[in-house]
Amino acid sequence: MDYTISITRQEERKVKESSLAPFGTQPTEHMFICEYKKGQWHDPRIVPFSDLVLSPFTLCLHYGQTVFEGMKAFTMEDGRVNIFRPLKHYERFSRSLERLCMPAVPQGLFIEALHQLIQLDAGWIPNDEEGSLYIRPFMIASEERIGVKAADEYLFMIVCSPAYQYYSKPLKVKVETEFVRAAEGGTGYAKCGGNYGAALYPTQLARNEGYDQVIWTDAKTHEFIEESGTMNLMFFIDNVLFTPPLSGTILDGVTRDSMLKLAKEMGISTAEMAISYKEIQVALEAGKRVEAFGAGTAAVVAPIETIAINGTHYQCYVGQDAMMYRLKQALCDIRKGLRPDTHNWNYILQ
Ligand SMILES: *Cc1c(COP(=O)(O)O)cnc(C)c1O
Repeated sequence: MDYTISITRQEERKVKESSLAPFGTQPTEHMFICEYKKGQWHDPRIVPFSDLVLSPFTLCLHYGQTVFEGMKAFTMEDGRVNIFRPLKHYERFSRSLERLCMPAVPQGLFIEALHQLIQLDAGWIPNDEEGSLYIRPFMIASEERIGVKAADEYLFMIVCSPAYQYYSKPLKVKVETEFVRAAEGGTGYAKCGGNYGAALYPTQLARNEGYDQVIWTDAKTHEFIEESGTMNLMFFIDNVLFTPPLSGTILDGVTRDSMLKLAKEMGISTAEMAISYKEIQVALEAGKRVEAFGAGTAAVVAPIETIAINGTHYQCYVGQDAMMYRLKQALCDIRKGLRPDTHNWNYILQ
């Protein structure tokens, strides 16, 4: 199917902000926008980045019918631009949309819109080693109506922001056994706005206690580890890479999936299995070397240095020779074109 996307260019190139701009505050020059009405997507177009005008009656403002994705584009070693695993993000976007009763976006439209927009704004990818373009596709219910219902009208948009190299300092996290992020039958597997709003308060309480993040546990027993903040959680213990299996309460992270596949390729054993925080505690108390890290698009690997379990602090291994950094390097090398892309993860703009 042919998706013709009209392009209106920004007339004057805006001066780029410096790398001092906090993450996610600097938009690039253009954005993609498309409206859903009467059962169809209309008028897909790329236009200069601009504000939206919405009625206070707009449904998404009241009932949280919103879904988003977070992905990245990179400049490869040879200068070409690479979007990392857009199809995997598209599939997840589709699953999230279905859960929130929102209309599907045709794959061809999603990919073509990404392609055209990134091509146009590729100049915004920072030059530094780990610089990238953060890409945020999202959809909101745009119908004007303040009665609860699945909307009949939507906006699908893609916006971008330069992301500069950022050093993620080792985190101090606590195992959260009171609040939950997601429950079986809920929306944990969807990247929908409500999940993030609901996570703010427990996270803020943890911050007040001096932690950077929480480790979420399951809603039934508060014993099995799920995710950390907005990242999937992985452990490397006894030469095995452990992570909880995908379920209705865990987000199917693209980084998680990539790490598991890379680990297997590198000859590292992997295990997707339920992990009780008590098992982690036993390993730590036995003096084992435990690596713990968050995996997500933003930082790739966010090392965890301290885990608090019922008030006791345990130290994890964050030395430079840690396995998590080897995995991170392998992933970054694929994106840069420095390591063979055996899984066809790179979508390279020609
Ligand atoms: C986005 C997200 C992740 C990480 O997914 P990636 O595709 O690797 O960026 C993990 N957990 C939650 C809750 C998320 O929202």
